[in-house]
Amino acid sequence: MRKPEWFEKDGETWRCLLCPRGCTWGTNSTSYGFCRVRGVKNGVPYLPGYGGCVSLSIDPIEKKPLYHFLPGSSILSTGPAGCNMSCDFCQNWSISQGKNVPVRYVSPPDLALMAMNSGSVGIAYTYTEPTIWYEYICDSAPLVREKGGVSVMVSNGMINPEPLNQLIGIIDAWNIDLKSWSDEFYIEHCGGSLPTVLDTLKILADSECHLEVTFLVIPGENDIPDEWKKMADWLAHECGDDTVLHISRYFPRYKLKSHPTPVETLIHAKEVFSEKLNFVYLGNVGLDSGDIVCPSCSNLCVSRNGFEVKTDGMNKGFCSACGRDLNLRV
Ligand code: SF4
Repeated sequence: MRKPEWFEKDGETWRCLLCPRGCTWGTNSTSYGFCRVRGVKNGVPYLPGYGGCVSLSIDPIEKKPLYHFLPGSSILSTGPAGCNMSCDFCQNWSISQGKNVPVRYVSPPDLALMAMNSGSVGIAYTYTEPTIWYEYICDSAPLVREKGGVSVMVSNGMINPEPLNQLIGIIDAWNIDLKSWSDEFYIEHCGGSLPTVLDTLKILADSECHLEVTFLVIPGENDIPDEWKKMADWLAHECGDDTVLHISRYFPRYKLKSHPTPVETLIHAKEVFSEKLNFVYLGNVGLDSGDIVCPSCSNLCVSRNGFEVKTDGMNKGFCSACGRDLNLRV
């Protein structure tokens, strides 16, 4: 049984230090933490979700979404059955919030083999919240790297800085959800914390990892242009104006029943964010192919048609016409 990390015993209490929820248990307890992937059994920390994969499928990397990381590649994607947030608009709620979700156990060596035997460039930990799978990722991602593959995290960013710093060394690329510019939104709709997510973004932006950000626009909740401007300012200032932003269309799911985001709202959001950021894309709407256009000379560097990708307008991540750095890993 894998030894759990980030548990601390204080007197008669166990506390999990992996994320800001800080779940606690009495030393005689048997129960899961909020995320249902970690817990305490008979007074001893354990990892009930270790290696339990909700799904294993090969996806285009654009679907994660990552538009500036190995464009046109495919990646084996999986995730745990649980989450440390509880977004009432969760697009994957049946596996993130459901009880007794069917999983398939895959050992870390087997996962690494699958990742590199399937025409994929590596492994994407995604679908639910992968950071709560900390130990499994620590055991599998280095094996993928040993075999020449990459590891990607698609995360809500709700992780404490110390474990995040440990993951940075073994993960190549991240997509972090930035769900709102309002901490009240995070508390009311997600059971999360905006300051924690911003800290995560800053740490990743300062690291060697590739970083992209996703913002899901929900009508009546976070479709506030003044907040978009503040978010754009912050991203440009703290993470850099070449930070890649995906603005995604909301569809009603789980508990929130708002109507889908109007297309005009998404177009307006792209205009607002593009005043500060050089690489802004619309997702989930079919309006934006995801072409990468050089911000300096307007050369078409990478063109996309569905998941068909042509990269003949760039050279090793730089614009082939003017040589500008495109914040693009190839
Ligand atoms: S990672 Fe899971 S068990 Fe640990 S504090 Fe967060 S929700 Fe609780």
